[in-house]
Amino acid sequence: MDLLGVAHQLHEADRTRLEQVREFLQARIRRQSIEFWNREEFPAGLVRELADAGLAGVQLDGSSHLLRGLLHAEISRADVSLSSIVGIHNELIVGMIDALGSAEQRESWLPKLTMFQAFGAFALTEPDHGSDIAGGIHTTATREGDEYVINGAKRWIGMGTIADFALVWAKCPESGAVGAFLVESDRPGYSATKIENKIGLRIMQNADISMENVRIPVENKLPGAVNFASANALLMQSRAWVGWQAVGAMLATLDICTAYAKDRQQFGQPIASFQLVQQSLAEIAGNATACLSMMMDIARKQERGELEMVDAALAKSTATRLARQTVSLGRALLGGNGVVTDHEMAKFFCDVEILHTYEGTYEINSLIVGRALTGVSAFV
Ligand SMILES: Cc1cc2nc3c(=O)[nH]c(=O)nc-3n(C[C@H](O)[C@H](O)[C@H](O)COP(=O)(O)OP(=O)(O)OC[C@H]3O[C@@H](n4cnc5c(N)ncnc54)[C@H](O)[C@@H]3O)c2cc1C
Repeated sequence: MDLLGVAHQLHEADRTRLEQVREFLQARIRRQSIEFWNREEFPAGLVRELADAGLAGVQLDGSSHLLRGLLHAEISRADVSLSSIVGIHNELIVGMIDALGSAEQRESWLPKLTMFQAFGAFALTEPDHGSDIAGGIHTTATREGDEYVINGAKRWIGMGTIADFALVWAKCPESGAVGAFLVESDRPGYSATKIENKIGLRIMQNADISMENVRIPVENKLPGAVNFASANALLMQSRAWVGWQAVGAMLATLDICTAYAKDRQQFGQPIASFQLVQQSLAEIAGNATACLSMMMDIARKQERGELEMVDAALAKSTATRLARQTVSLGRALLGGNGVVTDHEMAKFFCDVEILHTYEGTYEINSLIVGRALTGVSAFV
């Protein structure tokens, strides 16, 4: 089912690429990811295959915003954790070095990053500052001669235990100015500890990062990251990307539930023949279609360079709210089988919880929309 005839809105070459990537993800990633998710393990082999499919560098390969969004949705439709790895890598690591890095930083890191031969981690959130991080950065970068000395702690950092470096947002203690620093993970004083027992995105290795007198050369500062607004410009785009992840999770729910309803027999007939089951399927399809349509409009705004924070916040909060409702319907539709990951629905059910919270919680994104609607800020 091609909801909204999306494929026909792409040029032929893009349509072919989308179809090829979808086939690859469904054949090589979807079912294979389950055991890694159960074990909270990083699937190096699957990540390599994603690179071979060209997905590590989709940010810079000239793809349109619409194609990129649809590709991210297809990755999420196969596995949400892997879509987070690919998405954050493209939006906040490759995208950040490309937009805010120096010529030397671009030259030394982008060729490796866009092949998944190197990994970065985006390190903004701190143990005591999440929603209020914009004004709450405690990590410091103190200039000493030709070096910066970094001190502080970061929490929840995706790929933290695997990445070759972290892009650390820190504050100059004297001026209070915020900047971003490329901190290699093998520098003395740097340590990353995996956060265990997450209920969602279990493949994504999130970490607590501690930095004690970590010395980096001054060249490791990203010259384009001159204040928190530099982070905000990137976070606006990546916030919108979460909307595509939510669309992918809803499309997966539709795939899983439609197949299950036709197969599962109760009262001597497929549960697909029951009106209430069909109503659930219609609601799942309706939520997925509404969000897909909204995200296509967001992509058009991005193409025109007209995306604003309120658009990204509205898209992220609405898509994740409807995704939460959708996976809940899907989980119930599978009955008992909806709570075991073998049947996939439970995995999507849990992963959507993270989409609801990261890249600005549902509540904070709603408040950004509320501020735009009323002119009154309820949170600063
Ligand atoms: C799996 C996962 C991966 C992540 N990956 C990364 C990463 O790679 N890099 C990174 O830097 N960060 C990452 N994060 C951090 C994420 O962005 C934060 O968790 C998120 O911004 C919320 O911060 P917090 O967890 O500190 O919650 P808090 O800010 O403590 O919020 C707690 C609750 O209070 C509510 N709240 C707070 N302030 C207000 C207010 N003014 N009005 C109404 N409600 C309010 C929130 O909505 C929430 O419900 C990740 C988080 C998770 C869970």
